[in-house]
Amino acid sequence: MVTLRGPHLATPLTLSSSDRDAHGRLDPATIAPGEDVRYLVTRSGEAAMEEAAASAESEGGTLRLALETADPRNGGAQVLVYLGRRDGQRILAVEIGEPSAEIDDPGRDLRDLRRVAEQLDVEDAELAVTAVAMGAWHRSMRHCPQCGALLEAEVGGWVLRCTADGTEHFPRTDAAVIMAVRDSEDRLLLARNAHFRGRFHSVLAGFVEPGESLENAVAREVAEEVGVLVEEVEYVGSQPWPFPRSLMLGYRAWVPGDTALTLQEDEIAEARWFSRAELAAALEAEEIELPGAASMGRALIDDWYGRSAQR
Ligand SMILES: [Zn+2]
Repeated sequence: MVTLRGPHLATPLTLSSSDRDAHGRLDPATIAPGEDVRYLVTRSGEAAMEEAAASAESEGGTLRLALETADPRNGGAQVLVYLGRRDGQRILAVEIGEPSAEIDDPGRDLRDLRRVAEQLDVEDAELAVTAVAMGAWHRSMRHCPQCGALLEAEVGGWVLRCTADGTEHFPRTDAAVIMAVRDSEDRLLLARNAHFRGRFHSVLAGFVEPGESLENAVAREVAEEVGVLVEEVEYVGSQPWPFPRSLMLGYRAWVPGDTALTLQEDEIAEARWFSRAELAAALEAEEIELPGAASMGRALIDDWYGRSAQR
């Protein structure tokens, strides 16, 4: 497990202790059935989970992954992805579609990882985000982007090879910046995205465009979404966010000048500068709701606030 040097932020998804066993993927036997195999079923951002008994071993996690001993594919053609080794076991992920005759369903409890990631311990959370990310890739990549022929999985599900022209295709990650924007009075900018549910507010975020650096993406997104000028940025850390395939790169950003906001109408429903006292009051009055504890957005807000802003 790596640790952080310097003033970095980590979320529950930032650091890992798991063994992905990238060399093992090369051996086709790693996805063969066996006593030591455990299957993790995912479906469109959800993973199979169960309640965890409260114990010292669970390290505070209240949910854990439900790892199955039987191959859930009932003769179906779903791709197996080798996630690595844990406690002497090979962990294989299987992305399923809608319930069908091809998949055995022993009453599985599939939960949306975005909502419950903070209830898993760190090892389970990492396995789950990797499984969900790989599942999303396999769901969306059925045909070769060069010629349209079918693709076949290799290397423990980590490579797709075209059955016609032999080209190899690898899983992609989309870089996205997420930034805590502060003004000269050290107020924090929070916004409600037009696509967010209810009172949900967070810091701004956006995808990095081709030909753009991360630093420039921070400044461009802030200018586009709220019309203010970022003059300084500082990188603080990253986390995977595979819904379906983002890597979130966290920044602190400063707007020393004009703080008047001009909102991008189709993207930002509301945006406002908050002092710490104003944020505390808005939370107390239940005017706003913050992102979950496993997210980089929340880590950035808490970093500015000085402690956890909301339970
Ligand atoms: Zn092809």
